[in-house]
Amino acid sequence: MKIVFATNNLNKLKEVQYLLPAHITILGLSDIKCHEDIPETQPTIKGNAIQKANYVKNKYGYDCFADDTGLEVEALNNEPGVFSARYAGAERNDDDNINLLLHNLKSHSNRNAQFKTVIALSLNNEIKTFSGICKGEITSEKHGTHGFGYDPVFKPFGYEQTFAEMLLEDKNKIGHRGKAVRLLADYLNFK
Ligand code: IMP
Repeated sequence: MKIVFATNNLNKLKEVQYLLPAHITILGLSDIKCHEDIPETQPTIKGNAIQKANYVKNKYGYDCFADDTGLEVEALNNEPGVFSARYAGAERNDDDNINLLLHNLKSHSNRNAQFKTVIALSLNNEIKTFSGICKGEITSEKHGTHGFGYDPVFKPFGYEQTFAEMLLEDKNKIGHRGKAVRLLADYLNFK
């Protein structure tokens, strides 16, 4: 089975292909010659995931799934949440986002946070969603070079390393996207 994963993020493609059973091959947006920025204008993470999956299905005709992820920080009223990618501005710069987050958390002792991923699957003209959460805390400095996004400052509860210090397979075992993708994989296995 071939299915499109509506992302251009090579890290995400790698994470997700690793978790899906071998008979499911995922194609990225460049494989279907989609080189545009897919709109993400909904007020919720779930809304954005559904919007992206519907967009690809309607415009390109492929069955597909899309994910949207947000980092929700307790002391910041669950921000940046749905604005995680553009927290420090429209350029979507990971370093700037992290620096702003560390700055905004400076005076807070509560550093609890969670990643939330929602995957929307558009298959046979039906939409289905799967979600995964990973709880942890925001460190006061960056640690590690693996992964992407906020990984260098997110330490999952029960671990001494940030996501950026972990191997991909370990992040996948406990991470938000891993949990959502396993639910997706279980569902696809019966299709
Ligand atoms: P999106 O799901 O690609 O829209 O991601 C929203 C924001 O969260 C971006 O700034 C990403 O870099 C960040 N993000 C998404 N997934 C992860 C992750 O697994 N680790 C760290 N940051 C992530």
